[in-house]
Parts: sequence; C-alpha cells; structure tokens
Amino acid sequence: MHVNASPGPSAPGTTQLADPLAIGRVSRIIRVDDRSERVPKDKWYKDGLNFTCTQCGNCCSGDPGYVWATEAEVAKVAQYIGHPDPRLDQRYLRRHGGKFSFVEKEGGDCVFLKRENGKTYCGIYPVRPLQCRTWPFWDELLGSRSAWDSAARRCPGMNRGEHYGFVRIEELRVQRTW
Ligand code: SF4
Repeated sequence: MHVNASPGPSAPGTTQLADPLAIGRVSRIIRVDDRSERVPKDKWYKDGLNFTCTQCGNCCSGDPGYVWATEAEVAKVAQYIGHPDPRLDQRYLRRHGGKFSFVEKEGGDCVFLKRENGKTYCGIYPVRPLQCRTWPFWDELLGSRSAWDSAARRCPGMNRGEHYGFVRIEELRVQRTW
C-alpha cells in the first residue's frame, strides 16, 4: 500500500505515501493518530464502502477500453508470464497516445483474462497493474454517488462484501505506485 505510518520529519503523525504526488493530497485529510475525527464531513463515502470481487469478469471484458500499464508494470508482467522481453510484444501490448495498454481479444476480453468452466480469472493477478489493483476506488467513481452506482450496475462486486473504511479508500484513491 506504500503507506509509511512512521511520523514524517516535517509533519508528525501524518500518514505518508511513497508517491510525492500522493503525499500532499492524502496528508491534508488523514492523520494516523486521529483518523475518525479528521474524516471530511462532505465526502459522500465518509462512512466507507463495500466491495468484494465476484470474478464475473465484466471489468475485464465487454466494451472497448484501456488497461494502462507503466513500463515497470509491463516488466513485472513479462517476468511473471516468462516472456523473454521485459517490454512484452504486440500480442499483449498496444500503444495509445504514448502510453501502453493491454491488447483486447475479439469479444473484448483483456488478453490476460482467462475463462474456465464458466468462471473468469485474471491470468496475471499477482502482478496486475495499478489500474486493476485499485478498482473500484478510482477518482472518477468516487466523485459522486451516482458515478459509483452507475459503475456498480456493471460490477456486481460493488456495494457488497468487504467493508472499506474511509482512510483505506483514500489510500487506494491516491495510490500512484505499487
Ligand atoms: S466487474 Fe466487479 S465483480 Fe466483476 S470481475 Fe470486475 S471487479 Fe470483480
């Protein structure tokens, strides 16, 4: 999670993330010694949210989309699947606007989505990129209750199962590195 709960040199008691972009955003609202009182009253998800993946595969299939991966994430995937090139190749990766996204198979499945006996699973789950690791706690879905509920109509894992408290949601929302 890249959270260093040790007091930082300039902000005692403040939760810190490894990514400098994230530090400023999360440290304004979260203090590890005073979490409950510091939860902003205006966040619609201040009481937390529920999510447990049902492995339906909807988020890895269907309409065209992008699963972005950094070069470091691509290299992790290559190592995991035993590919000789840390940059993978065009069977797995495409370029769009100077960034990398995983290839989609015919029908819209992510190239790494596996289907077996009516079940789906991610073939690179332990090394899946950040975009997949932080779903559904994305900025755009947390922007409003209606955006969240709209996504939940396609993701049966949302609004059920494991409870995520406000602090954990915020850590995921601002996470930018592994
Ligand atoms: S759509 Fe939701 S429940 Fe289905 S596989 Fe994706 S995260 Fe899991």
